[in-house]
Amino acid sequence: MNLTDTHCHLDYNKFDSDRAEVIQRAIDSGLIRLLVPGLHHRSSRDAVLLAESNPSVYAAVGFHPTDLEEFSEETFQQVKELAVHPKVVAIGEIGIDYYWVKENDKRAFQRDALKQQLQFAKEINKPVIIHMREENDAWVGEASVDLLKILEEWQGSLQNSLAERPGVLHSFNGNLETAQKALNLNFYLGITGPVTYKNADEKREIIRQLPLDKILIETDSPFLAPVPVRGKRNEPAYVGHIADKIAEIHLKSPAEIAAITAANAARLFAWGD
Ligand SMILES: [Zn+2]
Repeated sequence: MNLTDTHCHLDYNKFDSDRAEVIQRAIDSGLIRLLVPGLHHRSSRDAVLLAESNPSVYAAVGFHPTDLEEFSEETFQQVKELAVHPKVVAIGEIGIDYYWVKENDKRAFQRDALKQQLQFAKEINKPVIIHMREENDAWVGEASVDLLKILEEWQGSLQNSLAERPGVLHSFNGNLETAQKALNLNFYLGITGPVTYKNADEKREIIRQLPLDKILIETDSPFLAPVPVRGKRNEPAYVGHIADKIAEIHLKSPAEIAAITAANAARLFAWGD
C-alpha cells in the first residue's frame, strides 16, 4: 500500500509524548508521505522542523483563519522565509471559518489574510491548502460563496502551471455544487474521517460523484478520527480507514484507492512518486 496523509497536525502538543512513535506507526502502516500544515508562524516553523528531520514528512506554512491574532507584516515575513524551504510543498492551511468567527470585521480580516496568502502562493508558485467551515456546519452558506469568489479570481489570475494544480479544499464538507465549482477551478478535494461515520450517507453520496483523480485522503490528526477509532486521538496510521471507505463507495480495492490518491497528491504537491 502506498498511502498518503495529506493533512496531519503532528506539531500539536497532543503528540508531544510520542511523536516519533506516531510517525513510525504511520510508516509501518504503509504511509509513504505525510504533510503537516502550519496554523500560524510558530506552528509553521515546527512543521518545517518535522519535515527536516523525517524523510517522509513534508510541510506547508501559513495562517489558519482562526489563528490570525498574531498575523502581522512581521510574522507573515517569517512564514514567507520558511516557504522557500525545499520540503515546504504548499501554503496552508489558509481559508475562511464562519463557524468559530461570527463578527463581520473579523470575517473581513480573514478574507484579507487569505487574499494576501494566495497572492504570496502565486509569487512562489506553490499550491494552497484551504480550510472552509460554514456557520453551524451547514452544507452551503456564506463561507462557500465568499471562498469560491476569492478562489475564482485568484485561479483566473494564474498564468503558469499552478493554474492546473492550484490547491486542495481540505476536509471537504460542502455540497455537490460547491465541489463542482472547486473542480472547475482545478482544485482537489480532501476526504477525512467523517466519511466513515454511520450517519454520513449524504456525504458518501457526494463523494461517490467526485472524480477519483481529484480526491486526496487525509486524517486532520489529532481531530476527526475515523470509525472504528472514532472518539480517540487521530493519527496518520488511521488514514487507511478512509481509503477503505472510499474504495467501498467507488467499488475499487483499497490498494487502488491508495495508489490513485498517492498519485494525485504527488501531482498536486510535486514531491515525486
Ligand atoms: Zn487542519
